[in-house]
Amino acid sequence: MDELKALIRTIPDFPQPGIQFRDLTTLFLDPRGLRDTVMAMAEPYRNRSIDNVAGIESRGFILAAPLAVELGTGFVPIRKPGKLPGKTLGVEYTLEYGEDRLEIHSDALHQGDRVLMVDDLLATGGTMQAACKLVERIGCEIVGCVVVVELVDLKGRAKLARYPLTSLVEFEGE
Ligand code: AMP
Repeated sequence: MDELKALIRTIPDFPQPGIQFRDLTTLFLDPRGLRDTVMAMAEPYRNRSIDNVAGIESRGFILAAPLAVELGTGFVPIRKPGKLPGKTLGVEYTLEYGEDRLEIHSDALHQGDRVLMVDDLLATGGTMQAACKLVERIGCEIVGCVVVVELVDLKGRAKLARYPLTSLVEFEGE
């Protein structure tokens, strides 16, 4: 995991002053890094009867699609408002400044489906928590949440205490 961590670039003050942006594009650019990341994300969830992998826009998509292929499941996008063409269900959630919303196609998942939730990074946990609520509202069971990076000091894990959560790499600080 130290090798994966070394492939993640930190950009200070992006997108605003004070944020240490953990840039995974450098990890995705590395063929072995990309492959090892997807395999490590898949490992705890093999043979767990997962029906679908749900990825959160937009960096979650990059990981969720190959993870779905690896686990032999379908892929479901969870998107920012107004992007999905079909009928949607949505959930509002609070950000540090203001509100945001996530949407899913209302016919993409069904009651009782076992779903694995994927994003690139867990910060405060608000985004993942909102995505989980949306999927649970349909009546699905969340088998787990998986991210590459966990910003441990922001304690997002506490918001997701109801679900198994796996992260590959931890960073201290915000
Ligand atoms: P949160 O809802 O606070 O857990 O934020 C998670 C979402 O914001 C993820 O989709 C990340 O892609 C993005 N994000 C938040 N903080 C950072 C950061 N320091 N570096 C890169 N992405 C971040």
